[in-house]
Amino acid sequence: MTNDSNAESGSDSVLGTIPARGGVKSVGQQLLLLQDQLKQVKEEKKKIIENYTSERTMRKKYYNMVEDMKGKIRVFCRIRPVSRKEFAQGEAVVVEKVDDYSVTVETPRGQREFQFDKVFSAEASQDDLFHDTSRLIQSSIDGYNVCIFSYGQTGSGKTFTMVGDKEQKAPGIMPRSFKAMFDIIQENTTKFDFKVSAYMLELYNDRLQDLFVGLAGESHSQPQSHGQARRVEIKRNRNGLVFAQGAETKEASSAQELYALFQKACTNRHISCTKMNVESSRSHLIVGIMVETRSLTNGSVSTGKLSLVDLAGSERAAKTGAKDDQLKEANSINKSLSALGDVISALSAELPHVPYRNSKLTQVMQDSLGGNAKTIMIVNVSPCHGNLDETLTSLNYATRVKAITNNVQRNVDSKEIAKLKEVIVKLRSGQTVEEDDV
Ligand code: ADP
Ligand code: MG
Repeated sequence: MTNDSNAESGSDSVLGTIPARGGVKSVGQQLLLLQDQLKQVKEEKKKIIENYTSERTMRKKYYNMVEDMKGKIRVFCRIRPVSRKEFAQGEAVVVEKVDDYSVTVETPRGQREFQFDKVFSAEASQDDLFHDTSRLIQSSIDGYNVCIFSYGQTGSGKTFTMVGDKEQKAPGIMPRSFKAMFDIIQENTTKFDFKVSAYMLELYNDRLQDLFVGLAGESHSQPQSHGQARRVEIKRNRNGLVFAQGAETKEASSAQELYALFQKACTNRHISCTKMNVESSRSHLIVGIMVETRSLTNGSVSTGKLSLVDLAGSERAAKTGAKDDQLKEANSINKSLSALGDVISALSAELPHVPYRNSKLTQVMQDSLGGNAKTIMIVNVSPCHGNLDETLTSLNYATRVKAITNNVQRNVDSKEIAKLKEVIVKLRSGQTVEEDDV
């Protein structure tokens, strides 16, 4: 008996769903059944792809929200190493990193502590620094305006941070950003068309100079004829994007091409000797990289901009022993940096009027500060006693900027976290989350 029943169930399992007796399914019926199953599988696959695509979109959106929650303007502080000369002179070190967020300064009136979003010690590598800034490159490709700039007295490490050393053994944020941008582009060429173009400007004595003028194959003006070649004016387009009218915009199709443009542009910069740093640049360097992204699936186009700014030295005129022309330079630098501080502080207080128009520097940076823009300011300081006054001035200036971070963070946090909580509740109860909910 047992054997028989086994045999019966065995024969059932061999025949699968086709009944042995009574209604044997025709081949046609089986085919229909299989076709039905295939349809189901196809539908499931389509759903998975849809979910995957929307998950990717969501992830991007959440990622940008997280970035926003960290504050629209984040301030990093970087302490440069003691130079050989300073070491030989027996300079005392008065600036110390306490932890990732705090730095202390020994002053004649006791120790002062400053807090930032991140503090980098003299030992921090260019890699370490880029690690915390590179994520914003993705944002610029996602259609946001991103601005990274360095602030500090001459010789504090601004150019080292933004550009790197001369031999490019330790490349800084600019060349690394060029590479990171094209790496991301490379990964996405099957889904998007990208167009990368750049302008490179120098702001010297309140005059904007197009650094592309004088490049090989262009008008052959000499660097000395600065300013005469073409008048550059800052304008805004209908989308609020700043553009330098009259300035050359050049396309680049690789990181190498972009870097070559940058290098050529650098040779056209103003250089003046001051007591503090023979090769110090007394002008602001402004690199704007526009990324136009066109989706190959639906044709939608977004434009983001990455602004990389190496500011002129923030030191006060008296200290540098500047005279006449150099005094004019110093005054114009101080005026633009203080206008930048005013803009940032108006943004921090969420004032209805932000005085962008008070200087060319703030005009050119207008679309990269406030609004939807994501900004990182790096305040560079010397560790030495000899630079104590300027270090304190820089850290105080940066603290004024940091105040925004706190405010924006708090405001954004509460709003965004409330939204996120709603989304989580919806997801938990099995409801679908619409793009608009986030
Ligand atoms: P700034 O642009 O603020 O005037 P620089 O970037 O030219 O200052 O730095 C002054 C000097 O200190 C340069 O020789 C630079 O290579 C060196 N330097 C600055 N920061 C660092 C650092 N983190 N590591 C090694 N050398 C540095
Ligand atoms: Mg410099």
